[in-house]
Amino acid sequence: MSNLSEHLLQRIDDKRDDLITLTQDLVRIPTLNPPGDNYLEICEFLARRLEKHGFTCDFIRATGTPGDSERYPRWNLIAKREGTKAGQCVHFNSHTDVVEVGQGWTKDPFGGALEDGKIYGRGACDMKGGMAASIIAAEAFVEECPDFQGSIEISATTDEETGGFGGVAYLAEQGAFAHVDHVIIPEPLNKDRICLGHRGVWWGEIETHGEIAHGSMPFLGDCAVRHMGAVIREMEDKLYPALAEKRTAMPVVPEGARQSTMNINSFHGGQAEPDADFTGLPSACVPDNARMIIDRRYLMEESQPEVVGEIQSVLDHLTETRPNFSYDLRELWSVTPTMTEKDAPVVTTVAKAIKDVLGKDPEYVVSPGTYDQKHIDRIGKLKNCIAYGPGLLELAHKPDEYVGVDDMIQSTKVMGLCLIDLLAPK
Ligand SMILES: [Zn+2]
Repeated sequence: MSNLSEHLLQRIDDKRDDLITLTQDLVRIPTLNPPGDNYLEICEFLARRLEKHGFTCDFIRATGTPGDSERYPRWNLIAKREGTKAGQCVHFNSHTDVVEVGQGWTKDPFGGALEDGKIYGRGACDMKGGMAASIIAAEAFVEECPDFQGSIEISATTDEETGGFGGVAYLAEQGAFAHVDHVIIPEPLNKDRICLGHRGVWWGEIETHGEIAHGSMPFLGDCAVRHMGAVIREMEDKLYPALAEKRTAMPVVPEGARQSTMNINSFHGGQAEPDADFTGLPSACVPDNARMIIDRRYLMEESQPEVVGEIQSVLDHLTETRPNFSYDLRELWSVTPTMTEKDAPVVTTVAKAIKDVLGKDPEYVVSPGTYDQKHIDRIGKLKNCIAYGPGLLELAHKPDEYVGVDDMIQSTKVMGLCLIDLLAPK
């Protein structure tokens, strides 16, 4: 290992307390999404810090994107540090938003407590720990190698947990990735894994129609919930077994997601749920409407028309065989699968750094769910992008979410060595 690399690793070890404090400070800014709390506050906090380290900061509001309002503006930050000569641009992208707290916590979800080498809080793992690691890596590299060539960018973006439209998608549409060469997204995929991409998504809503009538004479109406029951039965009998047969060559983790999957996200039929304080009975009616939202995750080996076609054929079959069956099918959202090649420069650079820091080859994985790489690929037209960062994916969105400090230190070292590899003068 070069002198420069050894000095950088030592410098990162020396910044351990700084890394802990930074992670705690980030966790203590509750950036819940929805609705999108404190987006400006977290950008201002990051800008104050990064400007002290020679970064120039751009605040970008994604005006008019879903959720953006005067009360909940979608503020993003891009911080940039230029080297002394021209070279490549390395971009670290982290989302600032965190999901709802939920039940079952034994720690303060926005306290950032440090216990037994773990920092607890909503977003500690997904992904403020990763954001802090990339910031410390960049700062340590700039201090150790001030005459570097090229540039480093750190972006902090909104709304990843709700599709990323006011965050990375917006920045990509504005051309923010046009000059970027390498992107690392420090999502919690674990310190020894490189995440190459993710499966595809197709969300749809099925609505079945019926006819309202008195509940004592259901034969005078037509029950939309029974029609939807027939849809589910058809799915259970035919579609689910067919999906379980489809295997992928994508290295998706966990293993159970290495096939096509479909979640029934919600089901509503008949009268709306009454308010919690209503103590009366429902009226006696045959439901004339039922709706179901399905969340289909698909593989590189499948096409989106094929995915929609399978749902369509369930509905077509019922239209032919079931009296009075009528439906609507609406697409709500879709994302194509993406996977960066294993020989892409950012992948080989991170792989080599993992080997140097951890003494082993990385595991190459694909995420079961999507993240902002989709926008960088599809809108930003940049394939050279991966997710790599500390934390265990299984802890994301759970109660007592945490990130391990040792894991963060090691990931910081990996990111720091990548910067040497890509930007240090040769
Ligand atoms: Zn995340």
